[in-house]
Amino acid sequence: MKFQPKASHFINGAYVEDTGGTPIDVIYPATGEVIARLHSATPDIVDQALTSAKSAQAEWAAMSGTERGRILRRASDIMRDRNHELSVLETHDTGKPLQETLVADATSGADALEYFGGLAASLTGEHIPLGGGDFVYTIREALGVCVGIGAWNYPTQIACWKGAPALACGNTMVFKPSESTPLSALKVAEILIEAGAPKGIYNVIQGYGDVGASLVTDPRVAKVSLTGSVPTGRKVYAAAADGMKHVTMELGGKSPMIVFDDADIENAVSGAILGNFYSSGQVCSNGTRVFVQKGIKEAFLNRLSERLATAKIGDPLDEDVNFGPMVSENQMNIALSYVEKGMAEGARLVFGGKRIEGDGFYMQPTVFADVTDDMAIAREEIFGPVMSVLDFDTEEEVIARANGTEFGLAAGVFTNDLTRAHRIVAGFEAGTCYINTYNLAPVEAPFGGSKMSGVGRENSKLAINHFSEMKTVYVSMNDVEAPY
Ligand code: NDP
Repeated sequence: MKFQPKASHFINGAYVEDTGGTPIDVIYPATGEVIARLHSATPDIVDQALTSAKSAQAEWAAMSGTERGRILRRASDIMRDRNHELSVLETHDTGKPLQETLVADATSGADALEYFGGLAASLTGEHIPLGGGDFVYTIREALGVCVGIGAWNYPTQIACWKGAPALACGNTMVFKPSESTPLSALKVAEILIEAGAPKGIYNVIQGYGDVGASLVTDPRVAKVSLTGSVPTGRKVYAAAADGMKHVTMELGGKSPMIVFDDADIENAVSGAILGNFYSSGQVCSNGTRVFVQKGIKEAFLNRLSERLATAKIGDPLDEDVNFGPMVSENQMNIALSYVEKGMAEGARLVFGGKRIEGDGFYMQPTVFADVTDDMAIAREEIFGPVMSVLDFDTEEEVIARANGTEFGLAAGVFTNDLTRAHRIVAGFEAGTCYINTYNLAPVEAPFGGSKMSGVGRENSKLAINHFSEMKTVYVSMNDVEAPY
């Protein structure tokens, strides 16, 4: 098999197999071909991974930040050097076009390793003077063993967005990728070892939800960082709460994108394309509710359709192709079922809507107009290439409707009115907002959701607070006064 790794799991610096686990077939979404066969972790494998992470942690945390950072930055360089090979692997794992994976996956993972590698040496506590010469100092300490659980849309990126800040702070990690895309996290683990990481600081085990669940409940685990859907997030958060573990929850969304009459239509259409069809729509922060002010509605829809007609759909390994298959037959069928729901609810199909026949899991980029707030396609996360266009008249109306969702991951506005743009953003109930652009997620900026879309932030200096805690030390320079 083309992409068969040496074994299913990577524990304590080496590949490990246990064929007693449930088989996992890795399918190339463009053809349906099985490209690797792995096994889900057995309880013994879960235990080995946690034991490895636990025993490596104290020594890793005792290294200087400079040393830890150097290893992460070396790993970043190796990832960049191997970008092409890793991107080809990511394309086979996810089906995303090579045109995308070359610039948004291993490169994004490398950014995280470089950024947090750079921060590692400057992670400190502070000195707090008290009266009479007494003082307090704080020590920033690692949490311990962290568990990362990933979704299938950005496997390398998620493995690094969780791993890099965790490791920079002196934690160790057990990472479980989605069983749909298990291959690239193994490469991240390999690369860290090649960069000089001590064995056991970053372990990868495969498995379904039950493996994730057994990691979350293990008493050796101090922190859980999940990227996944809201229903999974609820379960994982509840299980983590039982052990009073730290959590980061990067969950789903149904984000609004508002386009005012005065917006630059070409830019707004570009934003809507990026925010709905990049990665065939399988992006958590997508702006899938596109509110277009009535004055430009038809012009917007016409231009959108013209530009969608030029999308190059096909073999994701062809670098000219910019729209690939969905990750799995199941995910494609979910998205197609929403197309049926949209039609049944009376939305107007203005583009696409069909499966593209063949072995791969392709469907057309799809746009509905005349969508109303109560329709399922406007309320539920589809996680596929289905855009809903809704009309609006006034600013007051649209901000209320934009916020009328349990989700709060992202939100965007297109307008040339500067003050209105900032007013709208101030009113958005969302963790990540965009003005006249959409779906950027550079490592330097915090990323995460409000409301049901999540807890905590990834990336930026804020991520450090989610992977470390402060120990407070009171120091008396005077005699101790006691009442009796
Ligand atoms: P799921 O919620 O189905 O799964 C996420 C991960 O959790 C998978 O590895 C899954 O394993 C695992 N899992 C499932 N059940 C449990 C459990 N009870 N305990 C522990 N782990 C469990 O999400 P998808 O993989 O389908 O990914 C799509 C979702 O991810 C969308 O909602 C999307 O919005 C969200 N997402 C959020 C992002 C963000 O940053 N906010 C970014 C990317 C995606 P398995 O797959 O083997 O079942």
